[in-house]
Amino acid sequence: MELTDKQTMDWITRWADYVDEHADELNELDGAIGDGDHGTNLNRGTHAVKKAFANEKPQTVPMVYRTAAMALLSTIGGASGALLGTAFLTMARLSKKGETKLETLLTEATESIKKRGRSDVGMKTLIDLWDPASKAFAEHNLTYEKIDSAVEKTKDMKATKGRSSYLRERSVGHIDPVAKSSSYLFIALLKELEQQNK
Ligand code: ADP
Ligand code: MG
Repeated sequence: MELTDKQTMDWITRWADYVDEHADELNELDGAIGDGDHGTNLNRGTHAVKKAFANEKPQTVPMVYRTAAMALLSTIGGASGALLGTAFLTMARLSKKGETKLETLLTEATESIKKRGRSDVGMKTLIDLWDPASKAFAEHNLTYEKIDSAVEKTKDMKATKGRSSYLRERSVGHIDPVAKSSSYLFIALLKELEQQNK
C-alpha cells in the first residue's frame, strides 16, 4: 500500500497529536524504569516535526520522512531520538530510491533500529513494538488489539538495552515507554487508513 505526501504528513501529524495528549503518561512510564523524560522529550520532537511541516512544506514522500527525521534528531536527546530518527531516515532513503510500499518501508525501518541499537526483539525496547507491528502491517492484518498486546508484552520483559537495563529484574512489571509512544504511530496509521476508506 502507498501513501501520498499529504497522507504521510497527516499520519505523522496525528502521531504528534497523540504524543501531545499522552505526554504526561509517557513521562510516568519512563519514570518507572528510566529518567522520566520521554514524554517531554518526544513531545518536543513531534512539535518540531509539525513546525517543520508547516515551514518547509515538503512536497514529496521522501522529503516528508526526511523532514520528520531531521526534526526528531535535532530536538530529542537520548536513545529514542537517535533510534526514531534512524527509522524515519531509512524510510526517507528507501522512498527516495523509489520504494513506495509502506509495508517495505516500515519493515526496513525496524531493521535499521535493530542495527543502530545493536538490539533485537525481547530486550524491552521500541523494537518490541516496531517488529510485530510492521510484520502484521506487511501481512495486512494489523489491528488495534495487536498493537496494544505488543505494548503489554513489554511489561514482562527484562530490559537488556539502554538505561532501564541497569535495573535488571526490577525493570520487569513496567511497560517500555518508547514501545508505548511508538504504538501511537501505528495507531495513527490505522486511523489514517480508516479516514481514507471513508
Ligand atoms: P535515555 O535513556 O537516553 O533517556 P530515552 O528515554 O530517550 O533514552 O529512550 C529510552 C528507550 O530507548 C528505551 O525505553 C528503549 O525503548 C530504547 N532503547 C534504548 N537503548 C536501545 C537500544 N540499544 N536498542 C533499541 N532500543 C533502545
Ligand atoms: Mg529517558
